[in-house]
Amino acid sequence: FLSGRTALVTGSTSGIGLGIASALAAAGANVAINGLGSDEQIAQAIATVKAAGAAEVRHFGADLRDAQQIADMMAAINAWSPLDVLVNNAGIQHAAPLAQQPVQKWNDIIAINLSSAFHTMQATLPGMAERGFGRVVNIASVHGLVASKDKAPYVASKHGIIGLSKVAGLEYAAAGDRASGGVTVNCVCPGWVETPLIEPQIQARIPAGGNRDDGVRALLAEKQPSLRMSLPEDIAAMVVWLCRREAHNVTGASLPVDGGWTAQ
Ligand code: NAD
Repeated sequence: FLSGRTALVTGSTSGIGLGIASALAAAGANVAINGLGSDEQIAQAIATVKAAGAAEVRHFGADLRDAQQIADMMAAINAWSPLDVLVNNAGIQHAAPLAQQPVQKWNDIIAINLSSAFHTMQATLPGMAERGFGRVVNIASVHGLVASKDKAPYVASKHGIIGLSKVAGLEYAAAGDRASGGVTVNCVCPGWVETPLIEPQIQARIPAGGNRDDGVRALLAEKQPSLRMSLPEDIAAMVVWLCRREAHNVTGASLPVDGGWTAQ
């Protein structure tokens, strides 16, 4: 249902972003991927998304800490094709008590997890409104809804992106109509998802003499009542659904995929 549409997924050389890019490709979209990595990792990501069914896949290497690189990327993408789907997914994490968070980590986390979405949305939403169709999906986190210790910059960035998305959802709520599909802006809020991002937190919980599975169990037991990890494709399925025409009246929402974490 996305054939002829073009999507950008930031941070799609790994993890959840790669899963989302692949799922959008499988639904027929041309996909712009973005993210850091070795030449080999980037080539692998392009091949994965192509194999999933994308007519066209291009990689844009912008470092999202840099507003000028984001502006250049958005200009290049718009010269290729106007964007119908924008998924702000790139994100980093640094766990440490607030008093010990390096200032550089604060700046990088706010830049990548929050400010980059402001810049990409500013470059994309007016065109979506003109065309009457657009989907912005921001990958926030349960940490956009509730807090945990040792994650001050991350929790601040994720609460921020939920606020940003609510404003954009309101400003574009009346764009387009039922037939064109409208313009929506939403957040998906995952709990634990199996990706490289959470590996240090798994490793930190492996008891003496234990293995990685023990670390995963300990991590889930703290917060996620289902005691099951999500996989990137589980998050991607929600993103794909939000892109459907039937989702035209879901906007400004923050949808948890968290095994009951935020129901407690
Ligand atoms: P990941 O580490 O597997 O992937 C992160 C992606 O972001 C990579 O493609 C990386 O290259 C890219 N990236 C990092 N810094 C960048 C920069 N400066 N410029 C451009 N790209 C950059 O992580 P993931 O777990 O797939 O996380 C994806 C999103 O999901 C993040 O926003 C994260 O906060 C969110 N999230 C993850 C979990 C989880 O449990 N894994 C839970 C909730 C929310």
